[in-house]
Amino acid sequence: MTSNDFSSARLAPRHDLESSSAATVSAGPGPGPSPADLLRRLRARGAVDPVTHVERVPARVGVPAPWPSWASAELRAAFTQRGVVAPWQHQAEAANLAYEGEHVVVATGTASGKSLAYQLPALATLLSDPRATVLYLAPTKALAADQLRAVAALELEGVRPACYDGDTPRAEREWIRRHSRFVLTNPDMLHHGILPGHAQWSGFLRRLAYVVIDECHTYRGVFGSHVAHVLRRLRRQCARFGATPVFVLASATSGDPATAAGRLTGLPVTAVTEDASPRGGVTFALWEPPLLPPESSASSSVPAQTTGGHDGATDLIQVRRSALRETADLLADTVAEGVRTLAFVRSRKGAEVVAASARRSLDDAVPGLGDRVAAYRGGYLREERRELERALLHGDLLGLASTNALELGVDLVGLDAVLICGYPGTRASLWQQAGRAGRSGQEALAVLVARDDPLDTYLVHHPEAIFGAPVEATVLDPANPYVLAPQLACAAVEAPLTPADLALFGDGAKEAVDELVASGALRQRPTGWYWRHRERPEVDLRGEGGAPICVVESSTGRLLGTVDGGSSHFLLHPGAVYLHQGVSYVVDDLDLVDGCALVHTEEPDWSTHARDVTDLSVVSVRSYVDAGPVGMFLGEVDVTSQVVSYQRRRIATGEVIDTRPLDLPTRELRTVAVWFTLSPQSLARAGVQSADVPGALHAAEHAAIGLLPLMATCDRWDIGGLSTAVHPDTEAPTVFVYDGHPGGAGFAERAYGTASSWLRATRDAIAECGCETGCPSCVQSPKCGNGNSPLSKPDAIRALDVVLANLPA
Ligand SMILES: [Zn+2]
Ligand SMILES: [Zn+2]
Repeated sequence: MTSNDFSSARLAPRHDLESSSAATVSAGPGPGPSPADLLRRLRARGAVDPVTHVERVPARVGVPAPWPSWASAELRAAFTQRGVVAPWQHQAEAANLAYEGEHVVVATGTASGKSLAYQLPALATLLSDPRATVLYLAPTKALAADQLRAVAALELEGVRPACYDGDTPRAEREWIRRHSRFVLTNPDMLHHGILPGHAQWSGFLRRLAYVVIDECHTYRGVFGSHVAHVLRRLRRQCARFGATPVFVLASATSGDPATAAGRLTGLPVTAVTEDASPRGGVTFALWEPPLLPPESSASSSVPAQTTGGHDGATDLIQVRRSALRETADLLADTVAEGVRTLAFVRSRKGAEVVAASARRSLDDAVPGLGDRVAAYRGGYLREERRELERALLHGDLLGLASTNALELGVDLVGLDAVLICGYPGTRASLWQQAGRAGRSGQEALAVLVARDDPLDTYLVHHPEAIFGAPVEATVLDPANPYVLAPQLACAAVEAPLTPADLALFGDGAKEAVDELVASGALRQRPTGWYWRHRERPEVDLRGEGGAPICVVESSTGRLLGTVDGGSSHFLLHPGAVYLHQGVSYVVDDLDLVDGCALVHTEEPDWSTHARDVTDLSVVSVRSYVDAGPVGMFLGEVDVTSQVVSYQRRRIATGEVIDTRPLDLPTRELRTVAVWFTLSPQSLARAGVQSADVPGALHAAEHAAIGLLPLMATCDRWDIGGLSTAVHPDTEAPTVFVYDGHPGGAGFAERAYGTASSWLRATRDAIAECGCETGCPSCVQSPKCGNGNSPLSKPDAIRALDVVLANLPA
């Protein structure tokens, strides 16, 4: 068996297969094996037990509360008919606060019924005040559509709920503005459509009683900072029309949700976090794929989890069985046991690979059994997705592989097993995904399968970092000048800015306005600051680092989509394989002047991986810690980078086909960085030879970037790094880690604030990895611009020990 051969995935031993014969399987969801039994069988398959930890998450009994006295009989009856007998305690508490006029965030687990917490006060108000209106914001159109269905199903007189987004036909828009009292939309539409057209919305905004912000934890980083200002612009328009709506936010479980919601809305927000909904117990296993025998690891590389872009390994040597293959095997095994299983995979391509591989293994064992497994495919319509979910809930389908939880319908809960292929980046998302498992009164299994990655490796060996730690706080930084200035420009177009507005937009607003005046974008008059141009400023909430690039199919001229300017050199360079909604394209030309990339459909059997070179200079130091031979700094830096080449790699094996040069311009990024310096003497005393300093720092840098998501809600693609044995600005051996977004996104700041625990985790992750000289689980990085050279694992540990010994905790 070659190390990348999916088709020879193992199935459970023969005697187990017989106990789950086709008859058992087709009986649909029933009392399958207990999670403990199931796990015992799964982990007994290989020579080495891959399970590093098993955590029992106990069942919880629900705490119901009475209906609020202000909820009318009609409203209660509507909910009762939909199966809600009484609210849970947290729903009632949040609903009461909101009804009394307090801004509130309810931050509880998956399927805890957060929607009732905002539906109750919002709908009660719509029923009692026939003029009132409600604005609901979801991060995705799909979620808004689900919510529309739920509200419409209540059949309440005069509410007339409607979605208003990019897909809404022109003909219906005016009707919605005039007549709907419950408008469901997304921040992008609010930013591009509703706020610029506030005059047409004045009737709606004047009567606005509630703003509901669903899944508010998704508004993080630069995107979150933009959304924060869009909400301030909304509040400003409401105030002009005399309305002061109450904000009700729903969040996945997150650390300090009141502060995050306060930053997002700019208002004082009360948090309700005590989840009072019932849930079944979950047996949660941490699973580390076994090391491959040495001979097979020499010839193969990491299989690409996704194609295209700055993902995937270049010179990484695979030493472990891949998480994709391990997940595919586990999916096949659980399905063969008749267990309804949902597998989360980080990329769409990965989800398809997992499903296809599990199908093949099952068909090999029992012809036809493979049909019981499916993947969510890009391009599927919402109806088709909901049909797949329904099939899984009813047991017609036993296995489903999907990307992230946001795409899934809210009803898809109560599964018997959830497989999580790779740590999803935050504990909050991990719990969200695991929360799909477990029906009330029934035990379920959740398995986290570690990828070859320092963070995953650290976590499966440090279960306390998952089960003992609070979930992360959502990080956003509305004071980012690169967000604030364009948002103030948008606000000025909507209505001239006044001194009172500056307080609304918060820290840095005055400076940003002054700069907009200096650059000629605003003109100051006695009545305020006015936008000077004819055209509105172009501001994309989700894109950063330059204007978005349009992706156009050459043969038809069809616009497929846009890619933010910051990623375009990585994703859309000539020759890049670009995936859009599950269809594969190859880029013919990237025209940076016109801002478009021409592509044609083609499905080559390779993926492409761009490589870049980076230079960094320090602009200013905001804060520092002087710790003897060690210095820790936070400040502004200028990063210059250039995408210089790309590799083509076989999708099936990860084998490198060739490296091709590229001719793309350099790009500048002014951002925020955290960096530490060590004196050469302290390194020498710790046993790091001067020739090994570059390898020590480079390895430490890679692992530190890999572990930062433990501290902040980012992933390693949000962050860049640079290490050097002597940097001209610090004149010492230095490791830099910077935010990959203009102006910073709060990640480096968070790293600086948690430096000792961050670097402690980094050091432990490297030290505890079972490899000899470094691997993707510890010090190798899939996005290294230097081909993962030089790297010294033992010297990285020595260097980090010096830092930790000197840095105050
Ligand atoms: Zn390793
Ligand atoms: Zn590197």
